[in-house]
Amino acid sequence: MRKNIVAGNWKMNYNIEQTQQLINDLKTSLERVTYSARVLVAPTFVNLSAAVSSTKGTSIEVAAQNVHQAESGAYTGEISADMLQSVGVKTVIIGHSERRTYFEEDDTLLKEKVKTALAKGMEIIFCFGEQLDERKSGNHFSVVESQLKNVLFDLDVNQWKQLVLAYEPVWAIGTGETASPAQAQEMHAFIRNLISKAYGEVVGNSISILYGGSVKPANAEEIFSKADVDGGLIGGASLKSADFTAIVTASKS
Ligand code: PEP
Repeated sequence: MRKNIVAGNWKMNYNIEQTQQLINDLKTSLERVTYSARVLVAPTFVNLSAAVSSTKGTSIEVAAQNVHQAESGAYTGEISADMLQSVGVKTVIIGHSERRTYFEEDDTLLKEKVKTALAKGMEIIFCFGEQLDERKSGNHFSVVESQLKNVLFDLDVNQWKQLVLAYEPVWAIGTGETASPAQAQEMHAFIRNLISKAYGEVVGNSISILYGGSVKPANAEEIFSKADVDGGLIGGASLKSADFTAIVTASKS
C-alpha cells in the first residue's frame, strides 16, 4: 500500500535560529498528535545539516529543495547529490515550479537532475503542474502528461520506487487559490492511470502522488480524503508549526 506523505517546502525562508526554532516547535507539536503520514521538511541548503541533527531520533525527515545534475566539478554555487547525502539528506525536491520559472529549468535539465539523483540512490519528490492559461484552455491534462513523459517515462521500472510525485497546479501555488478536491482527484487519477498504463498497475498503485497549492489546515482534510491524493507538498502553511501539524494530522491513515 502506498504511503501518505506531508512535506513542507520552506523555500528561501528562515535563518539558522528560526529553522531550529521551527523544528523544535514541530517536534513538540507532532509529539502531541496522532498521525501516520511520513513527514518531511525542506529547509534551505545552509540549514540542512543542522536540521538533520535536530531531527535525529524523531519521525521528521529532512529533504533538499534542489540538486545539481552533475556529480561534481566547476559549477560555482551549486550543490551535488553526494554533498546532500554526506550531511544525511536522502530526499530531494526536483522540478518545483519556482525552479522552472525563475531558473528556467526545463524538461531536459530536469531529466538530467532526476537521472543523477536516482543514480546516487536518492528519493525524489518530482513536481509538475499546469499554468493557469493551460487549465483555462483545457490543456492541463496534456501538459501534465508531457511533463511526466518527458522526464520520467524512460526510467527503469525499479527506479519508480525512489519517486514521489507532487502535482502542483502553478495557479494554486502561493496564491491562496486551491484546486478543488474534485479537480485534484481528477488529475491524480489521470496521473495514476498514465503510470499504470506505462509501468503496470503495481507501480501505478504504489506511487505516492501529493497535491500542492495553497493547502491550509482549513482545506487539507477534504483534499487529502480523495482516493488518489496521498498527502501534500506544503509551502506557506509549513512555516508555522501549528498549521503544518494540523495539515499532517489531516492526512489519511
Ligand atoms: C509549494 O511551493 O510547493 C506550495 C505548494 O506552496 P503553497 O502551499 O504556499 O501554495
